[in-house]
Amino acid sequence: MSTPTIPSVNGTATDTVVMKFGGTSVADAGRIKRAAARIVKKREAGQRVVVVLSARGKETDRLIADALEISDRPAPREMDMLLSTGERVSCALAAMAINDLGHQAISLTGSQAGIVTDTSHTKARILDVRADRILEALDQDRIVLVAGFQGVSTAKDVTTLGRGGSDTTAVALAAAVGADVCEIYTDVPGVFSADPRVEPHAKKLDVVSFEEMLEMSSSGAGVLQLRSVEYARTHGVRIHCRSSFDDVPGTWVVSEAEAEAANAPRTADNTKENKVENPLITAVTHSTVEARITLAGVPDTPGAAGQIATALADKGVNVDMIIQNEPPQDGARADMSFTVPRDDVRAAEEALAPVVSDLGIRELRTEPEMGKVSIVGAGMKTHPGVAAQVFTVLGEHGINIEMISTSPIRISCVVPGAQVPEAVRALHGAFGLSGEDTIRPEQPFGEFS
Ligand code: ADP
Ligand code: ASP
Ligand code: MG
Repeated sequence: MSTPTIPSVNGTATDTVVMKFGGTSVADAGRIKRAAARIVKKREAGQRVVVVLSARGKETDRLIADALEISDRPAPREMDMLLSTGERVSCALAAMAINDLGHQAISLTGSQAGIVTDTSHTKARILDVRADRILEALDQDRIVLVAGFQGVSTAKDVTTLGRGGSDTTAVALAAAVGADVCEIYTDVPGVFSADPRVEPHAKKLDVVSFEEMLEMSSSGAGVLQLRSVEYARTHGVRIHCRSSFDDVPGTWVVSEAEAEAANAPRTADNTKENKVENPLITAVTHSTVEARITLAGVPDTPGAAGQIATALADKGVNVDMIIQNEPPQDGARADMSFTVPRDDVRAAEEALAPVVSDLGIRELRTEPEMGKVSIVGAGMKTHPGVAAQVFTVLGEHGINIEMISTSPIRISCVVPGAQVPEAVRALHGAFGLSGEDTIRPEQPFGEFS
């Protein structure tokens, strides 16, 4: 399929671009210099450039491990002080590389860049971007480098935005400076029909709507942080997700209308030319970091579920699927199961401890090794029978479905963690997602960490 031409907003290109480079793309000195050369090229082509950088390589993981070596319950405020350093290092080093190429660069922390967040340490939300300092530096012909993944809270503390949060920094800055596009440079050539590390036959998608990308990110496609897509949709920021290793166009994440127009060219009589261009299913996504918590013997009375959900929400635990059933012979009590990200298990258990004793819940059980596989596609809205096909395919592969949830354009199944890769490949094949520009194992792309 040829790459669609995506016009600029209102047909007029603005002169500012935001370029975000992920951890693998700035992992060592050579890659920082390579990113610097690419940034300078953009500037020399006449654009004002704001750059957002992630911490180098696995630096954030290393910092987390450092903290856990000191304390098994590090204070979230101090975690944020620690984790925010990774992206600052990248920015200072990249600024040096850009200066050496004869341009003037300035690196800024999230706080200096005016990113104001709420006070939820380690998962803060951006409330405001006061971009004056960035705009001043751009007016002085500087290339501005902003440390991703961080901000300053309304209580004046350093905060971080959750794993993958540099994507959200980039989109927020693109909105604040009125950039025409937010370019996300990463270690794969774009958004694929499945994680190409799990399904080597996955196909690069040329255009994806915000609606579909939201479902993909929320069900495990970590290539774009969920909040970055939410922010982009709310503020109308067009994302171009592409490889930092070559110059080939990647995936455009744009409004539903723009995506539909790009995906299904219209003929002269304004009918859709080719339905094959608009497939039923767009992608298969997965997560291997799910945990299931079961509360056995919850009183079957009004208000119990509310009490449980409130306790979890107050601790910032993101609950995904919820199932409640009444075991036979015990009409007064029910069992409630839900999934949470594995990293949130401890917070969930702490949040639930008082509720368990308050409500007299019989048992709290945690199963940490769960996974989830989902199919996403706007075409699903108008086609019955997709769920039946998903369940049949998983059944044929001997994969037991533990929980199910759906949205109008997504079907998700919780399955045993170890069977997730097989489930992804089975569904990808069954829904015919492999394409002509599919990457085969013998044609590796980019460089993996
Ligand atoms: P960065 O450090 O550049 O932010 P990430 O690791 O956060 O990179 O995101 C890129 C990774 O996302 C890829 O290496 C890939 O394994 C993973 N990924 C998961 N699902 C998808 C998908 N559907 N398309 C592309 N990449 C995906
Ligand atoms: N460095 C942070 C992380 O590893 C943020 C990011 O890379 O987007 O999650
Ligand atoms: Mg990322």
